[in-house]
Amino acid sequence: MKLLEDRIKQDGQVLGADVLKVDSFLNHQIDPDLMSALGEEFHARFKDTPITKILTVESSGIAPALAAGMAFHKPVVFARKHKSLTLKDHLYTAEVYSFTKKSANTIAIATKFLGPDDHVLIIDDFLANGQAVEGLIDIIAQAQAHLEGVGVVIEKSFQKGRALLDQRHIRVEALARIAAFEDGQVIFKED
Ligand code: 5GP
Repeated sequence: MKLLEDRIKQDGQVLGADVLKVDSFLNHQIDPDLMSALGEEFHARFKDTPITKILTVESSGIAPALAAGMAFHKPVVFARKHKSLTLKDHLYTAEVYSFTKKSANTIAIATKFLGPDDHVLIIDDFLANGQAVEGLIDIIAQAQAHLEGVGVVIEKSFQKGRALLDQRHIRVEALARIAAFEDGQVIFKED
């Protein structure tokens, strides 16, 4: 998606060998017009599927997931990472190793928000090694819901997440695909 690639080129910062910082429009400050365009693009790509629910993980998945939910007019559920006094029982949980924080988290969703009648679109900000998405897929399986596909804003194609999902024949749509970082520059993958 050219609008997104241009924004990454303009405002993204490459940190080290494999991290892209996009905190001026996605991960800290959020550009609502860009989010809205991303939501419409996810809708255009998945409108052939019978989505009933959008699923993501807090916190950085929420903005693009909400934008997708607004385009589909379907509810958005985000898995919580922190224990909450109001979220204690009747939970689906999964263990997720965080790429950026280098630590494991338990993610949780209340069972009342996901069930066998749901057709789910997973949305996340980044696809790196695929751990966050795998945790959500685990939860979808526990709920006996149907996974329709995975939409990510930015895929780092040089990390193993995309290959793992392809091997399992899971449909993935990435709005920007990064082939490599070279000398601090982002090299996009040609489709
Ligand atoms: P994965 O579970 O696929 O290894 O990593 C996905 C999660 O890690 C995303 O939800 C995102 O929050 C974070 N992440 C992975 N790579 C990057 C990156 O290059 N930049 C930023 N800002 N977050 C990333």
